[in-house]
Amino acid sequence: MSDCCAPKSNGRYDLAVIGAGSAGFSAAITAAEQGANVALIGHGTIGGTCVNVGCVPSKTMIRAAEALHGVRAAHRFPGLTGEANVADWGRLVAAKDDLVTTLRQKKYVDLLPQYNGIAYLEGKARLNGQGVAVNGDILPAAKIIIATGSSPALPNIPGIGDVPHLTSTTALGLSALPRSLLVIGGGYIGCELAQMFARAGTEVTLVTRRRLLPEAEPEISKALTGHLRNDGITILTELSYRRIARTDRGVELTVAIDGADEVITVEQVLLTTGRSPNTDGLGLAEAGIRLSGNGGVVVDDRMRTSKPDVYAAGDVTGRDQFVYMAAYGAKLAAQNAMNGDSLVYDNATMPWVTFTDPQVAGVGLTEQAARDAGFETKTSIVSLDQVPRALAARDTRGLIKLVADRKTDRLLGGQILAPEGADSIQTVVLAIKHGMTAKALGETIFPYLTTVEGLKLAAQGFGKDVAKLSCCAG
Ligand SMILES: Cc1cc2nc3c(=O)[nH]c(=O)nc-3n(C[C@H](O)[C@H](O)[C@H](O)COP(=O)(O)OP(=O)(O)OC[C@H]3O[C@@H](n4cnc5c(N)ncnc54)[C@H](O)[C@@H]3O)c2cc1C
Repeated sequence: MSDCCAPKSNGRYDLAVIGAGSAGFSAAITAAEQGANVALIGHGTIGGTCVNVGCVPSKTMIRAAEALHGVRAAHRFPGLTGEANVADWGRLVAAKDDLVTTLRQKKYVDLLPQYNGIAYLEGKARLNGQGVAVNGDILPAAKIIIATGSSPALPNIPGIGDVPHLTSTTALGLSALPRSLLVIGGGYIGCELAQMFARAGTEVTLVTRRRLLPEAEPEISKALTGHLRNDGITILTELSYRRIARTDRGVELTVAIDGADEVITVEQVLLTTGRSPNTDGLGLAEAGIRLSGNGGVVVDDRMRTSKPDVYAAGDVTGRDQFVYMAAYGAKLAAQNAMNGDSLVYDNATMPWVTFTDPQVAGVGLTEQAARDAGFETKTSIVSLDQVPRALAARDTRGLIKLVADRKTDRLLGGQILAPEGADSIQTVVLAIKHGMTAKALGETIFPYLTTVEGLKLAAQGFGKDVAKLSCCAG
């Protein structure tokens, strides 16, 4: 067993954390700060998904593609023209790798020596009685947190096992751009990567069984579909998959749309049909730990699994698969493990973002979800051509939708589709978290010529026609 630090207890740990990704680090640091002796066991590249193959590499590549688009779109201002192309994709990918290496070092590796209470151990861990087995050794531990993350899921398409395919991980590592790419899956990773490759010059087709971002409001999903099509992406929705096969020219996917078969032939295929919790080989069944229908470790609202003293957090739970939720859930799990399970996981005001351009961000209930929950709803939709910031930028792609309770006027949910709109969602998060009414949000002072000012307009839009307002939403 290779380890960076000697165990700080007499052979017994207060806490063993399995998985050294964002959730694992969050749990280990939280417990160590409370004086616990912690074993953090990592397998695979330290830091896990977000820094190595997820958030960081995808967002820097997306930004690069946005830079290309920004220049090409300069002509929307009369008198400007712009041309930008990929000169050396391999160099861009190498720069992305450098960023990943730097952040992994700073935010993960370099942290370990700063916490005396954490012993980092490398190896594939497995539950064993009240402890954890790693590389043949048993680490006794009073409490255990499972934080083993998730991996790209394989969709159920006949023939998929025989077809070479990319995942988000391998797609972000390609040293040359594919000529054509089929993205299977219309969730956030599919939308983000489809647009990134399209802007870089790849001919992209995106297919999905449902619509883009099925969790988003239908108006937002529809508008985003239009904007991605304007980026040159062929988007086929609400279809079913017949089969996929390797051919001389690459890969051929047969889909059925409105009862008719259509064949899509591409050089490469990228699968973005969700992520499966990493539970294989952990000995969960033997330990009596229950899994949910999607393969995630079932936890209660205190992050406890079905086995006493064993907790789970992050992507392995199969829910809220975002890095900040992994860190939040893991912190809570560690605090509960150390202090008697008093803290409750609350995702009611969890924001989510899709880093397309325009970005999509949301929080709270959609109109449909609010109705399903028994609310009598009212909604306000403001298109970005009502927002001075967007008019000044000559970029009015997008809309804002707010949902409120008709009886109390309390805000229940909000979604934003806007260039750089993701930063604005936090205002809705705070509004909902603190029980604000739409009226109160509409009366709040917002700075002029900002995207977030669109929220004030949308809040005012419940009661009046915002097109009739003077400047500054007054
Ligand atoms: C392309 C992409 C883009 C993303 N973009 C964003 C974004 O912009 N914003 C956002 O919030 N989220 C984003 N995410 C999601 C985010 O990366 C994850 O939600 C988050 O990293 C999950 O953290 P985790 O600690 O639960 O799992 P991980 O970070 O995956 O860590 C789990 C670790 O456990 C290890 N492990 C597994 N089994 C064992 C074992 N038996 N023993 C020891 N170790 C083990 C794994 O190798 C891994 O290192 C993105 C994901 C992807 C794939």
